[in-house]
Amino acid sequence: MKPNLSRRFLAYLLIAAIGVFPGCTSRRINQNPQTGRFDVSQGGYNVFSPEQEVQIGKQAAQEAMQQLPVLPENSPITDYVQQLGQRLASVSPGPDYPYQFHVVNQKEINAFALPGGPIFVNLGTIQSADDEGELAGVMAHEIAHIVLRHATSNISKQQAAQVPLAILGGLLGQGTGAQLARLGISLGANSIFLKYSRDAEREADLLGAQIMYDAGFNPYSMVEFFDELEQQGGPGGPQFLSDHPNPGNRERDVAEAVAKFPKKNFGRKDSPQFERIKQLAAKMKPLTAEQVAQRQREQQARMARAAQEQIQPSGQFQPLNHNAFAIAYPSNWQVFGDANSTVTIAPPAGVSQSAIAYGVVISGFRPQPGRDSLEIATQDLATTIARANPGMSVQGAQRTTVSGLPAMSVVMTGPSPLTAGGQTVAERDTLVTVQRQDGSVLFLIFIAPEPDMDVLSQTYSAMLRSFQIK
Ligand SMILES: [Zn+2]
Repeated sequence: MKPNLSRRFLAYLLIAAIGVFPGCTSRRINQNPQTGRFDVSQGGYNVFSPEQEVQIGKQAAQEAMQQLPVLPENSPITDYVQQLGQRLASVSPGPDYPYQFHVVNQKEINAFALPGGPIFVNLGTIQSADDEGELAGVMAHEIAHIVLRHATSNISKQQAAQVPLAILGGLLGQGTGAQLARLGISLGANSIFLKYSRDAEREADLLGAQIMYDAGFNPYSMVEFFDELEQQGGPGGPQFLSDHPNPGNRERDVAEAVAKFPKKNFGRKDSPQFERIKQLAAKMKPLTAEQVAQRQREQQARMARAAQEQIQPSGQFQPLNHNAFAIAYPSNWQVFGDANSTVTIAPPAGVSQSAIAYGVVISGFRPQPGRDSLEIATQDLATTIARANPGMSVQGAQRTTVSGLPAMSVVMTGPSPLTAGGQTVAERDTLVTVQRQDGSVLFLIFIAPEPDMDVLSQTYSAMLRSFQIK
């Protein structure tokens, strides 16, 4: 079980990222035929800068900490895993990511890495590792995914390639890193980060083997563990193998690579510390994936109840003066963002978990040349948003005016991040676009779960009436 990510949020994140760092790349590895060492080089498409990646990972880790039963920092098991992790991270190639290591009190054998540094290891992995080398192998493999930027490269490939818009971050100002962090209030982690291609798996195996070797471990311990997992089989096999599938010849590829490393004693396989920690772990009763999911559902239900009480907009409005626009908003709602960034205006409870369930997002972009009429640019934007939010569909567009300028209004419907009585609540969003003199387009997305439409529609209308372009 992994924390949930709001797809919608991811779309905004992409929109924010794309215009700003169009030229960032992922990383590749090459084995130097002379030295046998793997060099990490630039290669592959990635819309995120390494700095953005760290921000995204930090926010996602915070959400993961809220949603998963993570052992406390002062647990001896966490302490040990952190030491082991730091030892591996200290010899990992590439930039110095702020690695952090956490243990999830969950039974299934698994581990996952978030972009830019955070790594989560399930207690079940420690319980089932035969020696320190096997646990180190899983962690070295995860570190390699981070070094090679596989998670954000995944998102870039799956989604950004389809995004038809060249979004101009410059329109709404600089400082995207900080902006992402602020937006990131609603960021979580999702399988889109965590399902890797066979190529990515192969690279993580090979680089992981080198990290093991450099940290003084027997690099074969890693494949030994993966091998044991495969033999355990069972329906679906351990979760780890479905997230990190065998690229084909895991064992042979690693053996071939390791054979080319400079000769040295293959080193450490176990330690007394590991044995002590394993004994501690053996006495614990971690939660099952089903129990973790139940916890998440209860959390969501709590959020829904809290939100219900808090969304009610006050009749009082107050002004927001952004560099690109001005708008009035309910005084008991909150602005996330600043005068230069994309902003979300929402009741605090509406964005406190892994998604924006209520509120207004205001941002802007520059349409692609040739697709820069307001009608087509709006269509492109609506398609992008719908594509990034499974189940969302575009209901129809109409012309209107905003702030005295020609504008478009598009109704979109789909599933809300909220549930009621175990059922997903329907959501109705209105996308409003308005073109500025310079051709760029400002857009507002008014988000409302169906049951709250009546409460919110008057407020949203008043907000739109107050909207002024600068
Ligand atoms: Zn992997």
